[in-house]
Formats: sequence, structure tokens, C-alpha cells
Amino acid sequence: MTAPVDLLAQIGHTPIVRLDHLDTGPCSLFVKLESQNPSGSIKDRIAVSMIDAAERDGRLKPKGRIVEATAGNTGLALALVAARRGYHLTLVIPDKMSREKIAHVRAMGAEVVLTRSDIGKGHPAYYQDLAQRIADETGAFFTDQFNNPDNPIAHETGTGPEIWEQMDGRVDAVVAGVGSGGTLTGLSRFFARVSPQTDIVLADPKGSILADYVTSGRIGAAGSWLVEGIGEDFVPPVSDLSRVTHAYTIPDGESFATARGVLRQEGLLIGSSSGTLLAAALRYCREQTSPKRVVSFVCDSGNKYLSKMYNDFWMADQGLSNRPRFGDLRDLIA
Ligand code: PMP
Repeated sequence: MTAPVDLLAQIGHTPIVRLDHLDTGPCSLFVKLESQNPSGSIKDRIAVSMIDAAERDGRLKPKGRIVEATAGNTGLALALVAARRGYHLTLVIPDKMSREKIAHVRAMGAEVVLTRSDIGKGHPAYYQDLAQRIADETGAFFTDQFNNPDNPIAHETGTGPEIWEQMDGRVDAVVAGVGSGGTLTGLSRFFARVSPQTDIVLADPKGSILADYVTSGRIGAAGSWLVEGIGEDFVPPVSDLSRVTHAYTIPDGESFATARGVLRQEGLLIGSSSGTLLAAALRYCREQTSPKRVVSFVCDSGNKYLSKMYNDFWMADQGLSNRPRFGDLRDLIA
């Protein structure tokens, strides 16, 4: 057994496991369990990276205030680091976000500013613009993950080298999604240096503009999707998608079916974006004609989605399963 350690020192150094039971064609498919970070997602890495950098250059003073525009995993990760280091945190959250997510970040000590969801970029109440204004007016540090270079740096200097070491320098492809683009950008910069032949594979939800942008250079009209944390209706400024070699557009139904299959067959409870990543990884694997070592991620745990994609009735409500809306209870306990 090892001696007690600081919680923030537990960020990163996540294990990689091989998926043994899925049909991966000629490939071996590995996942890095980012769900094992202390606040439960891959976002712990960028929270500590962005805050460390701001502490170093004085943008963030002791007992200062941090502002971000999110109700997602970045909010939880920032709340963790803020609590440990004695900072105040304000999260600007669009009012369409689930009550559970808002309650969760509040319980972690964040001050929540709710704003309208029905407006776009440029409107003063748009959540990104409002976060910027609050930071300007209060002198707080706006982490601004969509524009902050310390986001991809966390993956270029942390996630990438960890994968390289854990995989003994043999990685034929990495598969990631894009929310802010930090993961994919950092990984593609790291692999361009150590292994430029490694394929960089984008997994994008249907409705997002990114896969089409990568393959055609066009920015089309965005649709909507149910997978959380990845897919965008714009190209995040911090992202660099120039090294993407393959891009797959994955419908929600395929993401959810993949996640449910991973739970049944591998015993891993993965989140919805990880379903998209693994669906794309499986498509890539099945297209290969020679053995390849493919690495992807469990970005967060499926706990958050038990009443959504792991719930048959919710799936039926979304038109994603044939199960009748009013199911037979005997079925559930059989
Ligand atoms: N999966 C989940 C669940 C996320 O919350 C995020 C971040 N929004 C990502 C994947 C994508 O990460 P990135 O911001 O590095 O593109």
C-alpha cells in the first residue's frame, strides 16, 4: 500500500484497459479510463492545467475568483480544484441544463448564474459572453476553455505521453471527440512529434458540424444531438483539427447502443460521449486489413446517464428502441 496522497496529485495517470469482448476486426482496442480522475472526468486535467498557469503568471491571486461558462464536466473539475485551493468559482449556466447538473456544481461550492438558453453568440446574455463580462467587471480569472491554450497543453504534456508510455510506443490510432477540442488538439500535437504515422480519428455526433468541416472544409448548418460533451455548432478557436486523418459521424442511436454493449460485454459503465468514441473506433477497426493498436477514452462514467441512455423507457421516448412506452413491469424484474 502507498502512503496517503494529495487528491489533486491523483489527476491523470489513469489506467488503460483492453476491450476483449467486442468485435474489433483485426485490431486491438484500448481505452484510457479518464472516468477515474477525482471529479469523474477527463476535464480534471485541464482544470488543473489552466489554474496552475494562471497562478504562475499572476492572472489568479490567492483567494481569487474563477469564472467559466459550463454546467458540464469542466464545471465539476474547476469546482474540485477551486475547493482544494481556496478559490471562489462562478459558473454561468444556460437554463436548459439539467437540474441535477446545476445542483451538483452548487453542492460543490460553485456560485451559479443562470442565463437564457434561447439566444446565440453576440447576445449579451449568451453564456460565454456573460462569463467574460462578469470576469471583466469583477477582475476574476475567466478560464475560457474554448480559447485557453493551457487546455490542449494538458493533453500534449500529460495524456499523450501517458498513452505513449503505457502502450510501449506502439499506437496506430487514437480516437477522440471534440467539445472544446483540447483533447484532440493536444494529442495530435504530441503524436505529430513522436509518431507522425499514428492516425488521428475524430468521433463526431450526427448534427455536429465538425466531421464535415474536417473532410470538406465547409461549415454547415448544425442539427441537434443527445450525446453530451462533444460535438459543436462552431469550430472552437483553441482546436486544431488539421492532423485529423479519419472522421466519423455517429448517430445518437449508435453511440447509445455501443455504450450499452460495452456495459453488457465488457462490464464498463461509460458515458455517452465515450459511446460515440467507441462506435467510431469500432468503425475504424472494422475497416482495417492488418492488425492495429487503437486507443480511445472513457471520458466520464455512465453513472450520470443511468436515467437516460441506460434507461429503456427514456430510449423509447427518444425513438431509439422498440420497447413499448408503458412496459410490462414483469419484464424489468424477470
Ligand atoms: N467527453 C465528455 C463527457 C466531455 O465532457 C468532454 C468535454 N466537453 C469531452 C468528451 C471532450 O473533450 P474536449 O473538450 O477536450 O474536446
